[in-house]
Amino acid sequence: MSSLKSYKFRLYPTRTQTEKLEWTLARCCELYNAALQERREMYTYTGKGTTYNAQAMQLPEIKEIREEYKQIHSQVLQDVLRRVDKAFKAFFKRVKVGKRGFPRFQGRNHYESFCYPQAGFSLENGRLELSKIGHVKIKLHRKVHGTIKTCTLKREGACWYVCFSCEVESVPRTPYTDEAVGIDLGISKLATLSTGDVIENPKHYRQAEKRLAKAQQALSRKKRGSKRRKKAVQRVARLHRKVRNQRNDYLHQWSRRLVDTYETIVFEDIAPTNLSRRARPRQDEETGKYLPNGASAKSGLNKSILDAGWSQFIAFCEYKAENAGTVQVAKVDPRMTSQVCSGCGSVVKKELSERWHSCECGTELDRDHNASINIKHRWLGRSLQETQAS
Ligand SMILES: [Zn+2]
Repeated sequence: MSSLKSYKFRLYPTRTQTEKLEWTLARCCELYNAALQERREMYTYTGKGTTYNAQAMQLPEIKEIREEYKQIHSQVLQDVLRRVDKAFKAFFKRVKVGKRGFPRFQGRNHYESFCYPQAGFSLENGRLELSKIGHVKIKLHRKVHGTIKTCTLKREGACWYVCFSCEVESVPRTPYTDEAVGIDLGISKLATLSTGDVIENPKHYRQAEKRLAKAQQALSRKKRGSKRRKKAVQRVARLHRKVRNQRNDYLHQWSRRLVDTYETIVFEDIAPTNLSRRARPRQDEETGKYLPNGASAKSGLNKSILDAGWSQFIAFCEYKAENAGTVQVAKVDPRMTSQVCSGCGSVVKKELSERWHSCECGTELDRDHNASINIKHRWLGRSLQETQAS
């Protein structure tokens, strides 16, 4: 079993190369429109289209009349004709079901890519070589796995990118769904998904965290400038690194699974103000004691690690999603996500310590599960609260 995987990398062509890329793109666009024109005329007069092969056979002739087309790799030109063929096949399908909509001519600004479908390019030792264009500087921010099947050059605004479609031996993974998932980031748990799944904070991570806190205390007892203090500083730094690495490993694993499973991953937009609001300790009005709401402990170092974990997790998902190409990460306004009922939209006020969401409408859910569903709904534009208000 094998599957296709796509990669996208930024290119840094020289000025001459940029001109060549632009020029190639313009010629491809021209050829596309010419091939479309031929097919349109055929269709108008005969009621039939023509085939890809019939058009491709004219390429040598075209090159004789328009010498500049010799400067473009023949497979690139064939690929243009294949695109026209595809557009027409889609058109005939539409006609069959009684719809119209002739394939359109492409404007220069909308025709933004050309492709080497099999050959004419190579990627060796971190260098991209394109036939008829040259060695183009590429930023390989990740390793390419599998065999490159196609190489597409793409213009986006003023930038150029290359997309590789690679055949890779497929590894068993969670089935891909075109679903959106809402994610509530938590304090004791790393995250709760709108599916009800929970991502725990790993045990070893907690242990390392404790050890770090101890080392930190030990450090504060050492005299300034002493040898022992120096050692303690090193120990804290080492543990810090360890905690960070362990956390990152864990976040990498989970962000990978999310990106492999869902098409849209929705987080709360965690601005620093939201964080502090969320973690504000609550005092008992009479005794002045801090209530056990799980928030008071989240100060200082613990909190900074926690915060870093959340934004790191989102960042990992974002970058993996971008690499996957087909996955997006969205962020929504986090206000009221834990208070609104995901079932009916009414507001069910609760303290941070209340871990269960119980609504008159019959919705009974874990607090964080309810919040994650709201996060998903908010992204879907189905914020129940908004619907109610309007
Ligand atoms: Zn309800």
